[in-house]
Amino acid sequence: MSEIFLCSICNVSNGGCKEDCAYCTQSYKYKTGIEVFRQKPLEEIMKEAEYFADAGALGFCLVSEGRSLTSEKTEYISRAAKAIKEKFNFHLIACCGSADKESLREIKNAGVDTYNHNLETSRDFFPKVCTTHTWNERYETCENAASVGLMLCVGGIMGIGESWKDREELYKAISSLKPFTSPVNFYIPNSALPINNSVMSRNEAIECIKLAKRYLQGTRLMMAGGRETVFGSDQKEIFEAGIDAVIIGGYLNACGGDPKKDVDMIRGYGLEIATVCHQVTLIY
Ligand code: SF4
Repeated sequence: MSEIFLCSICNVSNGGCKEDCAYCTQSYKYKTGIEVFRQKPLEEIMKEAEYFADAGALGFCLVSEGRSLTSEKTEYISRAAKAIKEKFNFHLIACCGSADKESLREIKNAGVDTYNHNLETSRDFFPKVCTTHTWNERYETCENAASVGLMLCVGGIMGIGESWKDREELYKAISSLKPFTSPVNFYIPNSALPINNSVMSRNEAIECIKLAKRYLQGTRLMMAGGRETVFGSDQKEIFEAGIDAVIIGGYLNACGGDPKKDVDMIRGYGLEIATVCHQVTLIY
């Protein structure tokens, strides 16, 4: 029987990012009306960690808006990572933008296991959805993370105007980085964003998952943003197409479902909830 891994997200700094990624509600350029805050207090992070640990998540990801892992952010993420690792048995992920080796080494030493930095789309298509930084900068950050011994979580977003060729190129590039996990996101339409595409059809989304699986045989494929928007409450097909992990409880600025309902749904499909992730074991 297959096991599905549960992962969770904590947005530790939100909104007002100076970059212009056309698919992202965090950019200052688009008036998406999301809450803007910097450096969520540690007590709040710990409360969220407890909630997700109780819900059965093996992974917990500290996500910060912004282009890069600055020295201030490095210090803040390191403090949060140490506190989380002292109390919880999570596989800890950080997602804080472009980063050099020194900062990445520092957060690794503080307890971060994996760095998440998505390539998002193909190198050729990326300039059509972002003009303030390059795809190469993203790729280099992934290389930097791997070089200091961090595991990689590298994925993309579908439905932002890219072609099937772009999707193939994206997955070729991701597979060259050999990530531990790869999140698959589907664009969630938002009238404040410049991308006017509607929700991707279920069939096309399933084909995207199958494509990702073909390129990423040794990687854990994780369904991230857009799971509920595209598939509603009937999600059996995503697991049949190759999804091994899901994010529970919401995606930064888009609501997810009740984690308990997700667990029931997954078990209802005859799948088990994983209790061991890499070195992390859940004790019930
Ligand atoms: S750099 Fe990151 S947070 Fe900022 S707009 Fe782009 S995707 Fe969003």
